Amino acid sequence: MLRLLASLIFAAYLWFGGQAFAQTQPVVVSSFTVIHDWVQTIGGKDFETINIIPPRSEAHGFQLSPHHAKDLRRASVIVGMSPEFEPWLAAWAKANGRSDTILWLNKHSGGRTPLNLPANPHAWTDPARVRVMVKALADRLGKLSGQDKTQVAYQQYVKEIEKVEVILGQLFGEVPPEKRALISHHANLDLFAQRYGLKVAGTILAGGSAESADPSVRHFSELLALIRKQQIRVIVSDEGQNDTFARRLTEDAGLPPPLALSFEYLEPTGQPGDTWASMMLTNGRRLQQALLGK
Ligand SMILES: [Zn+2]
Repeated sequence: MLRLLASLIFAAYLWFGGQAFAQTQPVVVSSFTVIHDWVQTIGGKDFETINIIPPRSEAHGFQLSPHHAKDLRRASVIVGMSPEFEPWLAAWAKANGRSDTILWLNKHSGGRTPLNLPANPHAWTDPARVRVMVKALADRLGKLSGQDKTQVAYQQYVKEIEKVEVILGQLFGEVPPEKRALISHHANLDLFAQRYGLKVAGTILAGGSAESADPSVRHFSELLALIRKQQIRVIVSDEGQNDTFARRLTEDAGLPPPLALSFEYLEPTGQPGDTWASMMLTNGRRLQQALLGK
């Protein structure tokens, strides 16, 4: 009986202790997996972290549900890329008077970003921009917790970002100039290509997969002509998306099947591509091999 009572008291202690602990932690909500990875890396265990768009899901065309809105209401800070990339988040914040709660990592004005580079929502594909974005995140989380730990975590993470940058630079440095052109599924590889001296000669879709109409017959002929003229060997398709158009292009051009890449999101924990660094290196290596014709 005494033992039962003791374990009941202990359970109650854990329950209420846990509750009190959870309530004192600031809540950080991330829009999608790449940002969630940065928040966990920089914030450590000092924050309660919630991610909205799950692993292996494209952010384009995302719709907010009441369940997500509940998470957003609890947030001390909400981290997104830009109002253009997450219009659902910008709309929610405006409607709820919570615009100050949002930290936009890639917000720009007049078409330019903080590094004064052309605007493109897929800023996480460029390690140089990632350094700037993660610094902004470390500053905001540091203010929130009142601790220097986020700056220490940032300094450590910068080393990892730089490692990714160097490895990718070496990989694409091995690709001869005449083999550096590709066709992408949607316009998500422009910044990556710019950083590593590649050339996105054309894209299949006008927007993201989840929000674009099927490309036209005319667009097909234009891309096919482009592929032949520029002797392009690599057609990229977005992993998990319909690749019928890309497949027809490769068949008509006599090329290997489309190369499925997943630069749009992270994979579930424990799989290759489950962190930003792993995602960049996994996709980068596969792209390099395809450009080399391997
Ligand atoms: Zn995209």
